Amino acid sequence: MSQQEIVTRIAPSPTGYMHIGTARTALFNWLYARKHGGRFVLRVEDTDRARSTPEATRAILDGMAWLGLDYDGEAVSQFARAERHREVAEQMLAQGHAYKCFSTQEEIAAFRETAKAEGRSTLFLSPWRDREDHPAAPYVIRLKAPREGVTVIADQVQGDVTIQNTTLDDMILLRSDGTPTYMHAVVVDDHDMGVTHVIRGDDHLNNAARQIQIYAAMGWEEPVWAHIPLIHGEDGKKLSKRHGATGVMEYAEMGYPASAMRNYLARLGWAHGDDELFTDAQALEWFDLGGIGKSPARLDMKKLANVAAWHIAQTDDADLVAQVQGYLSVTGQDSLSQSQQDALGAAMYCLKDRAKSLPDLLEKGQFALAERPLSFDDKAAKVLDPVSRGILNELTAQLQNVSWSRDTLEGVLNTAADSHGLKFGKLAGPLRAALSGRMISPSVFDMMLVIGRDETLARLTDAASSGD
Ligand code: GLU
Repeated sequence: MSQQEIVTRIAPSPTGYMHIGTARTALFNWLYARKHGGRFVLRVEDTDRARSTPEATRAILDGMAWLGLDYDGEAVSQFARAERHREVAEQMLAQGHAYKCFSTQEEIAAFRETAKAEGRSTLFLSPWRDREDHPAAPYVIRLKAPREGVTVIADQVQGDVTIQNTTLDDMILLRSDGTPTYMHAVVVDDHDMGVTHVIRGDDHLNNAARQIQIYAAMGWEEPVWAHIPLIHGEDGKKLSKRHGATGVMEYAEMGYPASAMRNYLARLGWAHGDDELFTDAQALEWFDLGGIGKSPARLDMKKLANVAAWHIAQTDDADLVAQVQGYLSVTGQDSLSQSQQDALGAAMYCLKDRAKSLPDLLEKGQFALAERPLSFDDKAAKVLDPVSRGILNELTAQLQNVSWSRDTLEGVLNTAADSHGLKFGKLAGPLRAALSGRMISPSVFDMMLVIGRDETLARLTDAASSGD
């Protein structure tokens, strides 16, 4: 195995949106492949024609693109490979690993009823397994599965999982209309695509036992299996809509950076010591199957917000502006003009240390985007009383000719506060209101430095004459 190139895959069924469980599975596979210099491939399991609309496939590709999980080569359509699935089933038939079963639905139902009445296992035992006297009638192709012994799934997360072969029936590989079953198609595709590691949700663990039997019948090398526990809600129950957002694009719409989502999803079920906050480079260095836990991870929106805050603080300013544009586009809002992008970029240094999301950055950076005359919210309007407006008026004169640096501005404003017997905070309130139109904003010095002297003086003048 050590010489072999590692190939992992994500094989989503188009459901109309990308579930965060699928996103996490994709991330684990992507990390594993990229870490080992291998390949990460995408297969759309679109055999359910009713659900597999172009829009549903698009939703998967959009989710992958937003998360930044690039895959190698073209996306493979499982449906398009039906001929190959048939060919392998025929090959198994020819080699005696599969057989034609002519039992009708009614016969199978009758078999089960009798078995139940007699207290036997209801697992269907086809009478056609060893018969050669074939009628000219519709048939399915079934795997001639071993009836004795055990099938062992050597799982990297769950350990060895042993399944008694008596509990597995001769599963159908090809239906009577010639279409492959899911179980069969997955194995043929994974084999043909050279997949070496199957990392997926543990809801597929039982399928692995059946899939192993197909690998064995074909004499193909089994992949390494890693079945990861599903994601649960904060209450420990299986994740569903009532726990909040289950679709990955809903997180894009909430304005979490994709890098934060990768970090957060990596921690949902995988751990590297106590590390909660890390970059992609660190995740790539640290990721291994041994770090995947056996119990379900719980979604925790507070943690996600903290992870997002850390990533925003780490990201460079221009990249953050681009991400804000992406957020506006995902949520169908107007994008920022070039001058707004420049203004937000200039303000970014004083916004990004406390923001928990991209809309939070926009909100905090509103002062830089706003155009005169500013509108004042209720609290700001209240702070701009006649006394404060008088002080702002004096300040406009004092700020005309001073050098526009943090030190000088601090000096001027502190002196102004002293001369009115005010604490600096009392002066900062009206200034904040004048510069941003609201009472929550970055520091007045940062705002003044970002918007510059002319705009500062104009806003102070506007505010000084407001309410007149
Ligand atoms: N198509 C399956 C799903 O979306 C995954 C199959 C697999 O990973 O083997 O759940």
